[in-house]
Amino acid sequence: MSTPIRLQYLELKERYPDTILFFRLGDFYETFDDDAKLVAAALQITLTSKPMGKDLRVPLAGVPYHSIDGHVAKLVARGHRVAICEQLADPSAVKGLVPRDVVRVVTAGTVTADSSLDATAPNYLAALVRRKGEAGLALADITTGEIRLATGAEAEAEMARSVPSELILEDPADEPPGLSCVVVARPQVGQLATESALASQFGEHALASLTGSEAESAALAHVLLYLGETYAAALGVLQRVRRVAPAGVLTIDQRTLRNLDVLPQAGRTSSLIDVLNRAKSNMGSRLLRQWLTHPLRDAPAIEDRLDAVEWSAGHPLERERCQLVLRGMPDIERILGRVGARSAGPRDLAALRGGLRATLDLGAHLPREALPTLLGQALHGLAAASEALLTLDAALDDDPPPGFDEGGVIRPGFSGEIDSLRAMTRDARGFLLGLERLERERTGIKTLKVGHNRVFGYYIEVSGANAALVPTHYQRRQTLVGAERYVTEELKEHESRLVGARDRLVELERQAFAQLVESLGASLGALQQVAEAIAMVDLVLGLGEVAAERGYIRPSMGGDAVQVLGGRHPVVEAALGPGRFVPNDCTFDSDCQVLILTGPNMSGKSTFLRQVALIALMAQAGSFVPAREARLPLFDRIFSRIGAQDDLAAGQSTFMVEMVETAQILHQATPDSLVVLDEVGRGTSTFDGMAIARSVVEFLHNRREIAARTLFATHYHELTSLEGVLPRVRNAHVAVREEGAEVVFEHRIVPGPSDRSYGIHVARLAGLPAAVVSRAAHLLAELESSRVPAGSNGHAALQPVLFGGPSPVEDELARLDIDGMTPIEAIQKLYELRAASRHGTGSSRT
Ligand code: ADP
Repeated sequence: MSTPIRLQYLELKERYPDTILFFRLGDFYETFDDDAKLVAAALQITLTSKPMGKDLRVPLAGVPYHSIDGHVAKLVARGHRVAICEQLADPSAVKGLVPRDVVRVVTAGTVTADSSLDATAPNYLAALVRRKGEAGLALADITTGEIRLATGAEAEAEMARSVPSELILEDPADEPPGLSCVVVARPQVGQLATESALASQFGEHALASLTGSEAESAALAHVLLYLGETYAAALGVLQRVRRVAPAGVLTIDQRTLRNLDVLPQAGRTSSLIDVLNRAKSNMGSRLLRQWLTHPLRDAPAIEDRLDAVEWSAGHPLERERCQLVLRGMPDIERILGRVGARSAGPRDLAALRGGLRATLDLGAHLPREALPTLLGQALHGLAAASEALLTLDAALDDDPPPGFDEGGVIRPGFSGEIDSLRAMTRDARGFLLGLERLERERTGIKTLKVGHNRVFGYYIEVSGANAALVPTHYQRRQTLVGAERYVTEELKEHESRLVGARDRLVELERQAFAQLVESLGASLGALQQVAEAIAMVDLVLGLGEVAAERGYIRPSMGGDAVQVLGGRHPVVEAALGPGRFVPNDCTFDSDCQVLILTGPNMSGKSTFLRQVALIALMAQAGSFVPAREARLPLFDRIFSRIGAQDDLAAGQSTFMVEMVETAQILHQATPDSLVVLDEVGRGTSTFDGMAIARSVVEFLHNRREIAARTLFATHYHELTSLEGVLPRVRNAHVAVREEGAEVVFEHRIVPGPSDRSYGIHVARLAGLPAAVVSRAAHLLAELESSRVPAGSNGHAALQPVLFGGPSPVEDELARLDIDGMTPIEAIQKLYELRAASRHGTGSSRT
């Protein structure tokens, strides 16, 4: 027979089968059976056993209640789900079995403990579903109350950008490749269930006003239903719903974010975020990440941001005064997350109060007039802090303890009842403290002591030598070596008054505190706006600071051309130190759509490519850019295909990965896109590689619907001949200077093709034995002379036959007016063209 507690545990375990169940028993959370074995091993705590019935001992591992957060965080970080079972009543107040239930299931997407969160990144629970072939995405961050929704291609792009911790799917086949997050499978949610989930969270009209598609609604419903099951209390915090407008953002896939080192990543020393982040608060840091992963396409919105950054760059004194205040700013946004979930403690509210006070200070440091729009709006938002501050100040003690057991959470004067109970406990304690003197006088025992311990409460202690003097009304409680402990009726009476008053006091303080949290929770929306305003001020001040310090300038946005003069790579420049980075220009206009960049390895091709993409990204994010002058269009997407080291590690063939990525770009690019291709075709044999590289360039150049601005770095020198053939292709190369037998990389990009291959010089620089280098030079000379096709001249002589202009057949094909032909004419033309190509016209290249 199992004990009743064992049965209670088993019943809960059955309801939460796929979790590790932490079962509250007094001051501990215990785990049993296999959970205990797993937990003991994972957390390195002792595995013991506990009798839980006749002839029944079960494995047990437990942690003290106050350290549960850290332990749960560790387990969740390893991909486990942890159910927390609480005692629902005070054990001393119930006879028999204490009622218990699971109050929360902690999962990767629903953790809230600071120890398991990155303070500078959001923690998203996501759902991705399909309705009628269209994807819908919902992302929720319960630590800040943010919800983001997206539909269609934008859903997948947003998914890749936002990197959720946990993803709900209806169909496992929807799992995006390369995603490292916990995946939860859920059955499909129907229309009715969707409507009722949205209505109960956001009101009756939610469906029409909040979401943009059926798939989005279903995804949002999944998130809400899942939270309802795992952490219902957190639903209260989810109030801000944002739709990702497809036209409103510049789309950058996750690979490009990685290629460009936008976010910090393992194995890389620095990132764009590291260089740009001068936010003093976590809220500002998170907003920077948001801006950089979701740059805008909306010119007025970008200009608003640039105005604010310009103000900050030009007002160093005001900026520094504000930043001084921001330095001490607590993470109000995440504290509000706990207020929304009603899990905030006294120290949280004390920190919130400090933050709100600082918020008003911050507002006071910003001038009232001539502020740019965004800062003006933020200033207005900051002012909303004052009401909550008054509420907090009235109720909360100046320096409240972390918990309620000691009392002192609520400010004196807030509640008459609390004040009088406090007076009572003070009196009773005073009496007990005075009792020692009184009893010594009464009994004549000079060494008599009044003490207190947790088991027996207050007692009077008399040494064995004085036993004879102990009065008869003393009741013996405990015998120690050389001493006895007693109580008296009088002592018991005062003690119970003290304990009663204290219990009541703790209870009343708890209630008053809960009401305080409740009233703050009722104005959560307004408080979240305060947090947003702080984040905004913090971020733009920080961006202004970097701009001023690093000499970034305001880009001018709009128009068709790209003209960056004296551009620098923000991250490489920061790493090299002041004055060491060589600035370079980049122009795309009606004459130049594809720029082919040649030059030896390590000369700076990749750096240049990335710098152009980063400058475009920074500008659309609303930041100043590292350049002397910059004119930029509003790109719709930035694509990149750079390097393959990471993919190699993942075990895929380099060339296959390269081709898959290139294919994605060619399918998705538009004339408004920026495409950055580094060494495409490198992963295969020279001729294959060159052929592919060339046809990729031709495709990007010739297709009107694709015609993206393209930067193409290659070591295939032969590709430079395309400049003469395709009207909008231009060559550039990295200048190299020879000093004696050495090559010096100047990192300067200049127009025109590079005139020879420096591979052999680089080999010498790298220390290859002299014999190898001179043999290679000899072989190269041989190869070059054997590859000269008859009738060619100049450096075009080095091109394999494969390259040249389009054949007459191709020319004719290109000129065909297909729409104006009947099917018969079309077939006739096909026959003609085939005949022409068989007669060799097609292969006689110019
Ligand atoms: P490639 O792509 O041609 O092989 P990289 O772009 O990787 O060359 O550049 C090689 C190194 O040269 C970089 O790590 C950087 O330190 C340096 N470098 C590149 N461009 C510049 C520049 N414009 N100014 C100063 N140093 C540069």
